[in-house]
Amino acid sequence: MFAIAVVSWISAQVLENALRDLREINIDLDRRVEIRTQELAEANERLKGLDELKSRFVSDVSHELRTPISNLSIYLEMLEEGDARNTARYLAVLRQETSRLKKLVADVLDLSRMETGTVESQFEWQCINDIAEQVFIANQLRADVKGLQMEFIPADDLPEIYMDRDQLNQALNNLVGNSVNYTERGHVIIRTLHDMASAQIVIEISDTGMGIADEDIGHIFDRFYRGKRAGQSSIPGTGLGLAITQEIVERHGGNIQVQSRVGIGTTFSINLPVQLAENE
Ligand code: ADP
Repeated sequence: MFAIAVVSWISAQVLENALRDLREINIDLDRRVEIRTQELAEANERLKGLDELKSRFVSDVSHELRTPISNLSIYLEMLEEGDARNTARYLAVLRQETSRLKKLVADVLDLSRMETGTVESQFEWQCINDIAEQVFIANQLRADVKGLQMEFIPADDLPEIYMDRDQLNQALNNLVGNSVNYTERGHVIIRTLHDMASAQIVIEISDTGMGIADEDIGHIFDRFYRGKRAGQSSIPGTGLGLAITQEIVERHGGNIQVQSRVGIGTTFSINLPVQLAENE
């Protein structure tokens, strides 16, 4: 009798333990299902966001392509049927619109390759002074033609960093090109610095140009955004240069900042971490 009572007590205990284990497994499963559901909902939101971004990008690109394409067809028609004495002018516009189209397509491709990660990066140890000097030389002729003074002030203690030379060349070229474009008189200065306190290399491009209005400054890194005055001027542009530049700088672990005063000038600063080099 006693033995039966002991056996049934033990069975009850075993059953109770098994039930408790089952309850715990159940709670654990519920929690995991809840976490997974949450993760899936977040992934879904991210995908929706990306999809919206893609649609907006495609519609922006189509919109931007429309103007040069329609100008090309108008001027081709005028070349065929218009006054022959204006041929040189029509050809000049056709040339200008063709190069605008080429630049737009190249910029769009660059940006989309970088965003989809299909751009081939070739990282190697380099000194930023070599790249800044190349960009300085490449823009000097255009600055001379406009009567602008151009200067390159390199720091002499710069450590090499691990970077993609072509990409940083493109980023600096966009900034220096903009400075030359948006400056009518005065100077464009390229300066490199080694900020030891923050372990960063700084590349500064400053000009004495038209400056950027307060209502524009928060948008200039957006794709296709052109400042009000830039858009109204005859200065060519796609509104993609700064978006590409920012993307490149961020791929190098850095950041880009701007300070500007209308009618006084603009300074863009790129900060690149030196520890990137030490970690590699
Ligand atoms: P884009 O120059 O083709 O218009 P960007 O993306 O390079 O496009 O620049 C966006 C806008 O930022 C320009 O349209 C212009 O309004 C402003 N901007 C950029 N750099 C300068 C500069 N150095 N001085 C004045 N405005 C500038």
